Amino acid sequence: MAVTRTFSIIKPDATRRNITGAVTKMLEEAGLRVIASKRIRMSREQAEGFYAVHAERPFFADLCTFMTSGPVVVQVLEGEDAVKRNRDVMGATNPKDAAEGTIRKALAESIEANTVHGSDSDENAATEIEFFFTPQEIVG
Ligand code: ATP
Ligand code: MG
Repeated sequence: MAVTRTFSIIKPDATRRNITGAVTKMLEEAGLRVIASKRIRMSREQAEGFYAVHAERPFFADLCTFMTSGPVVVQVLEGEDAVKRNRDVMGATNPKDAAEGTIRKALAESIEANTVHGSDSDENAATEIEFFFTPQEIVG
C-alpha cells in the first residue's frame, strides 16, 4: 500500500471544547502522521470556497457559519492509504451512525458539529491541501 496524503480539519466544536489533542491522538493512533498543522480562523470566503461542492445543499449557509464560528486546526496527514485510513477513523458524518472507536462516535456533537473534516479522494486531498498550505509548510 502506498504512503499518501490527506487533508484534515479539526472543526470549531473541537477547538471550543479544547480537544484538539484528543482528536490528533486518535489520528496518530490510526497510523496517520501530522506533517503540517496550523490553527486559523476561516473567513466566510474561505469556508464558501472550501465547501463550494455543497453550495446547493440546504445546510450550506449554516455549515459556513459554523466553520467560521471559531478557530479550526487545518492539517496535512500522511500514512498508508491516508484518505481511507482517515475516513475510517473519522466515522460516519452523523455521529449517531458512527461506529465505535471512531472520532465522531467518541467526540462529535451533531451531524453539523462533527469535529473533523477529511478529504474523500486523493484528488480532493491534493486540491484541499493546496487551498490551505504552501509546499514550504509541509514537512514530511
Ligand atoms: P466532511 O466533508 O466535513 O469530511 P463528510 O464528507 O462526512 O464530512 P459531507 O457530506 O461532505 O460529509 O458534508 C460536509 C459537512 O457538512 C459535514 O461534515 C457536516 O458538517 C455538514 N453536513 C452534512 N450533512 C448535513 C446535514 N444534513 N445537516 C447539517 N450539516 C450537514
Ligand atoms: Mg465531505
